[in-house]
Amino acid sequence: MDALRLVTRRNVVRGIAASVASLTLPCPSIAQSAARIAVVGGGFGGASCVRALKRIDPKLQVTLIEPNRTFTACPFSNEVIAGLRDIEAQRFSYDRIIAEGVTVIAQTAVKIDPQTRMVGLADGQSLGYDRLVLAPGIDIRFDALPGYDEEAAARMPHAWKAGEQTLLLRKQIEAMEDGGTVVVVAPAGPSRCPPAPYERASLIAHYLKVKKPRSKIIILDAKDAIPQQRLFENAWHELYPGMIERVSLSKGGRVTSVDPATNTIVTDFGSYTAEVANVIPPQKAGRIAGIAGAVDNTGWCPIDPVTFASKLVPDIHVIGDACFGGVIPKSASAANAEAKACAAAVASLISGQQPAMPRLIGACYNTVAPGYAFSQSGIYQPKDGMFAEIESGTSPVDAPREVRVQEADKAQSWYKTITADAFG
Ligand SMILES: Cc1cc2nc3c(=O)[nH]c(=O)nc-3n(C[C@H](O)[C@H](O)[C@H](O)COP(=O)(O)OP(=O)(O)OC[C@H]3O[C@@H](n4cnc5c(N)ncnc54)[C@H](O)[C@@H]3O)c2cc1C
Repeated sequence: MDALRLVTRRNVVRGIAASVASLTLPCPSIAQSAARIAVVGGGFGGASCVRALKRIDPKLQVTLIEPNRTFTACPFSNEVIAGLRDIEAQRFSYDRIIAEGVTVIAQTAVKIDPQTRMVGLADGQSLGYDRLVLAPGIDIRFDALPGYDEEAAARMPHAWKAGEQTLLLRKQIEAMEDGGTVVVVAPAGPSRCPPAPYERASLIAHYLKVKKPRSKIIILDAKDAIPQQRLFENAWHELYPGMIERVSLSKGGRVTSVDPATNTIVTDFGSYTAEVANVIPPQKAGRIAGIAGAVDNTGWCPIDPVTFASKLVPDIHVIGDACFGGVIPKSASAANAEAKACAAAVASLISGQQPAMPRLIGACYNTVAPGYAFSQSGIYQPKDGMFAEIESGTSPVDAPREVRVQEADKAQSWYKTITADAFG
């Protein structure tokens, strides 16, 4: 029997790392063009996109607008919170991207005028474009959970954007006394990386089991079902018996308000006081997407799944977490695949060719302890104006431990491959 038994005929999971590495760029035979492509946001989506554009047509004038000189990655940041990894392993510079001929402007885009095709920057300068790709990731909806605003995040970190928030949560867990309660508040979808709250709870449990074994984790959840539920629950039972309690939506887990002054979290059915409160609130597309007019009343950007063109604004494409085009999850893996497909579509459109039908592969590894991981993956293609999942795979529920060890290794290679692909 295969080490990884899958729910579909094709061995999707086993091929993930190889697929990410070998994703060849569709290579339209385009006329060499000096069109101006501006990309806003230098995360997994934007960084992958600018590199792909330059590879398809070196003559394109590609500009990346990103305020941070170093990108801090979310995947594996849960290991930073659990003290298993240094934050430096999450940081990537734009040097390789610059060396490849992309102009990188270290500014925030603050305005977009689709009529004149101009991006306004925080320093007052502006930049013209022929086509614009928005890849601003998510913003936290600070208006969605009573009591949770930017000030509250300094006391009850979300750590849903990696960096200072990640380190704050790590510090709070390190400072907590043995016997304390960590509450993780998980939002309803759609949200960035749906399995990540449960990976986080698992890795915090690993830290507590070693350092503060009388402590407890409560997950207050706005959902009933969670991704890879049986795999997570089995791992919790096996590795952290009695340590993690998940309160689902129908058991009263939906959080209705928080009070950062007392670290109190109120749900439909009662209230909890936490020593450490990790509140992951509802999210929306990065703010600039709304300023561009690309966001609808869901808070996300509807797109055409073949070209990633905004359904609301001309000459603007949206990729990564900010876009909404069907069942494809909000993950770094998806953002990277979308970025390449979008780059190919943009190059085709500029040269007057028909964009090819994309076929995207997304994969997500969940590490629940050192040397213990499982994964899920999917292949997505446009169908009826949205992305549909045409194949999916998941790790088997009853696999021996050595399979979890192998998947933990594969998770590490996946991270190396995807970050090298995005940042060089
Ligand atoms: C804890 C955690 C664990 C995760 N683990 C995984 C995992 O194991 N596998 C996986 O595939 N995914 C994982 N993810 C999800 C992954 O991090 C995101 O899906 C991915 O980063 C989305 O890429 P993006 O390019 O859309 O956004 P981002 O990577 O967030 O990049 C957005 C960029 O846009 C910039 N930006 C925003 N606004 C502006 C503006 N106005 N002007 C200029 N720049 C701007 C930001 O500074 C940022 O650099 C995880 C997420 C979390 C929170």
